[in-house]
Amino acid sequence: MKKIILVIAIILTAVLPSEASTPKVIAHRGHFNAEGAAQNSIRALIKADSIGADYSEFDVWMTADSTLVVNHDVTFKGVDMEHSPASLVTAQKLDNGENLPTLEEYLSAAKSLSIKLICEIKVHDSLKHEQECIRRTVDMIKQFGLEDRTEYVTFSKNGILTLVKLCPKGTSIQYPKGDYLPEQLHHMGITGMDYKITVLKKHPEWIKRAHNLGLAVGIWTINTPEEMQWCIDNNIDYITCNDPETLIKLLQK
Ligand code: MG
Repeated sequence: MKKIILVIAIILTAVLPSEASTPKVIAHRGHFNAEGAAQNSIRALIKADSIGADYSEFDVWMTADSTLVVNHDVTFKGVDMEHSPASLVTAQKLDNGENLPTLEEYLSAAKSLSIKLICEIKVHDSLKHEQECIRRTVDMIKQFGLEDRTEYVTFSKNGILTLVKLCPKGTSIQYPKGDYLPEQLHHMGITGMDYKITVLKKHPEWIKRAHNLGLAVGIWTINTPEEMQWCIDNNIDYITCNDPETLIKLLQK
């Protein structure tokens, strides 16, 4: 009898939807619209923390001489992140006057704040270079004692598998490309599906399927109150947005 009850409980856990909770606010590349900030700047990280965003998202590259730097695109003002030395990359000025930060500088600033981090590992030309970037990033986050406050995302399928291998068990790792079913992501051993709103509007059933598998569901990058409301109404767990202040106000209503 006990066995039957246990089996029924397992089946119900798998079939019933998880309880909806308030979505987490992710400031995409930090709160870069704040006064004096720029995308992926330390000021944008500090401002994201100051307005009460749950996470600041940032992007990591490894330079030709193996320094980890924070920037979105492969090039910044004509300088290639992956194929240039760190001295040239970090000499570049962001739009707010800061120098393009190293990961070490970024984590050093994050250490004194309470905001959590979404660390995106960029897809590098060289798989070997990318793997080394991941290994060094995971190590540095550990050295800063930020493992409990850092989650990962990468468009690289090899990168996802490397993160699963290198990160402590239970680390949140999300895949954003939109080309895998929830069941396939679960099989890969990651914790979340982080897709574009257009993908999930086309496949809204994936949200419940992901939740039933224990996967978190995120959406990027949301820019309008209407899209934010759609995410709230559809039990999305993480909302990545360029206007975190508007989303925070909407969630407080
Ligand atoms: Mg990013």
